[in-house]
This record gives sequence, structure tokens and C-alpha cells, in this order.
Amino acid sequence: MSIKLSKNLENIPPSATVTMTQLARDLKNQGKDVVSLSAGEPDFDTPDHIKMAAIEAIERGETKYTAVDGIDELKEAIIRKFQKDNNLTFLKENISVAPGGKPIIYNAMIATLNHGDEVIIPAPYWVSYPDIVKLAGGTPVIIKTSEESDFKISASDLEKNITENTKWLILNSPSNPTGEVYSRSELKSLAGVLKKYPNVYILSDDIYEHLVYGELTKFSTISEVESSIAERTLTMNGVSKAYSMTGWRIGYCAGPKKIIDAMRKLQSQSTSNPSSISQWAAVEALNGKKDFLKGWLLSFEERRDRVVEMINSANGLTCLKPKGAFYVYPSCQKIIGKKTVEGNVISNDEDFAMNLLKYKSVGVVHGAAFGLSPYFRISYATSMQKLETACNRIIEFCDDLE
Ligand code: PLP
Repeated sequence: MSIKLSKNLENIPPSATVTMTQLARDLKNQGKDVVSLSAGEPDFDTPDHIKMAAIEAIERGETKYTAVDGIDELKEAIIRKFQKDNNLTFLKENISVAPGGKPIIYNAMIATLNHGDEVIIPAPYWVSYPDIVKLAGGTPVIIKTSEESDFKISASDLEKNITENTKWLILNSPSNPTGEVYSRSELKSLAGVLKKYPNVYILSDDIYEHLVYGELTKFSTISEVESSIAERTLTMNGVSKAYSMTGWRIGYCAGPKKIIDAMRKLQSQSTSNPSSISQWAAVEALNGKKDFLKGWLLSFEERRDRVVEMINSANGLTCLKPKGAFYVYPSCQKIIGKKTVEGNVISNDEDFAMNLLKYKSVGVVHGAAFGLSPYFRISYATSMQKLETACNRIIEFCDDLE
């Protein structure tokens, strides 16, 4: 008997970052000394006061179904967060909580897209955006950026790609995979274009909001910069990256009531509420002390500086120094066409990543997965010692190529 799967799903590859992380994990299980720089999660432990809030929630018996899109206490904490950090004012009816940031984006796309609707996505992009759009029946419209513009789109790039079918623009700053951050003035000029197209909605993925480096870098989100587009902006965030809570699965967003209502309906027929215990932990993450964040930031910044320095010293690699998230996106342009010791030609960034794993047991993710080649992504959310080991191996790998 042949089992037939959804045609929609058959055209979607599994997430490349998850695949590379698994490949590295498999090699490790076979006894190889693998250093994986492919996972997108902080290596810090979830802070104790957040864990305690979860334990107390269990002890209080908060272990039952909750409201489908989040408990009131969490929605109130989210409202306070948006007011305090972003100067954005919302009511509870504007807030949705889901089992992670990814389901927020998935729910928003499924709830709004019809066949033929286009979603503008700057590349390189977070791997899941185009595939979620396709799963929802929409058409991704990719705007490729370049290193010269720090991998950011300009107002004219945006305007050229808007058509009568454009439904959404997805913006992600700080960016996964480049770590680049849109400044207030850059967002203002993008908003200037969006003001002319009232049918275009904006999804602002702010999940790396708290990870920006340097005194001069300030995080801004687009509806704060231009209030006239706020009524069609969905501002998404979550506790995964900011509080090292990737496994707890809590993401949230604020936006137009009509979209929030549709997302609730969808969630009521799919996952139902996010874990009650994780929701209470998220209340503490948002309301509780944040003194640990400073130390985490300093540590990330030191790691970024070291990785950028080491990668730039490798034969044939060049790397910008981005201002946020915990990724760098080096170019391997000058490596393309070179051969490994066994004579395998490195024809593209996927060959680069695969051979690096094969010869030096270092896991990175190839740029093609993020829609812009020839690059690769390094996640520096791991110890300095592992980063230095991995970077030394990358330097050796590049030196060995002919
Ligand atoms: N958005 C971006 C840009 C991400 O990098 C990620 C996770 O890697 C997410 C959303 C999803 O986060 P979560 O783990 O909360 O689903």
C-alpha cells in the first residue's frame, strides 16, 4: 500500500538548521569529537528564579488547560513589557500566546493567507519563513540583500517588490542568520514605503530584541518608529532566546484584534494552550529581575569579537561584525572551486559545510538554507573554548584546501 501525504507538505524540506544539528549529534553519538555551531539556542541555563516560578506553579496545581491563547497574568506581563521596552500600548484582546515563536508565525500565516497572496521576505532569512508561507498556501517573494548593505533591504528594494498581491512583509531584526540590526532611521524609511500601501501587513519578528551589542546600538521595532502602521503590524517576540528558555516553548505577539481572534480559533483546533507551567515561568521571566542579562550580553559580545577575528584570519573567508543576535554569516566566496585533500571540489556553500563536518567535525549551516550563498552561519552561543577549537579547525580546513 502506498501512503499518500499532503502535496503541500511534500514540497517542504525539513528545517536545515535542525537537520545539520542532528547530523552533528549523530556523529557525536558515533564517538566523533564534534563541535556543533549550528544550533540557534543560548548555552546558558534558564535562571533559577524562572525555574522556581514553574515549580511553584506545579505545586499550586496550575497543571490544567488554560485559556487557549494564554493566561491573563501572562497577557498582562506582555502588555507591560511592550509598554516599558517598546512604548507600545495594547489591550488583552491584542495579545496571543503560543507554544513558541514559531507557532505564532505559523498561526498568523495560516490565519491570513489565501492562495495567490504574496509575502515579502528579505534574504538571508530565518529558514522557516518561506516554508511556513508555502504551507499556508501563500507565495514567498524573496528580496536578496548583499554584504555591502549589511544584508539589509532598502526602501526602494521594498517598494520594487510590492504588488497588488502583497499581504505581508516579514522583518527580523536582530537577524537570524546575519546578526544585523535595523536602525531606527532604516526602519523609518521602510515604514515610509509601507504607509503608501495600506493593504500590506507587517510581521516584526523581534525575538532577538535583548541581544544587541555596543553602547550605540539601540533596538527599535517598526510600529514604535511609525505609529501610523501599528494597526496592521503584528509584533512577535518570545522568551526562548532572551531568557534561555528554548525548551519551555512560549512565544507571543501583539497586533490587530481580528488577526489575534483568528489565531486563537486556529490554535483552539490545533495545539490548544501552551503548557500552563511554562506560561507561569514566562510571567516570571517578563516581570522578574533581569540583572543576569548584562552578563550574558557581555559574554556573547566577547565571543562574537573572537569568532569574527579568527574567521577573518582564515584563508579565503571574510566576516562582518554584526551588532546583534548570536550569529555571524561569513562569506566563503573565495573558497568556491578549491579542492579538499581527497580532490573533492567545493562547488557551493553546502559542500563547504559538509566537508567541514567530514574533515574537521565542525557543524555549521550553509547559506543556501537561508536563501543567500555563498555563506555559512555560525552560532556563537557556545563556550569560548569550543568556539576557539572550532575556529582553529575551520582555519586548518581552509589552509588544507588547494
Ligand atoms: N524567529 C527567529 C528569527 C528565530 O531564530 C527563531 C528560533 O530559532 C524563532 C523565531 C522561533 O523561536 P521559538 O523557539 O520560540 O519557536
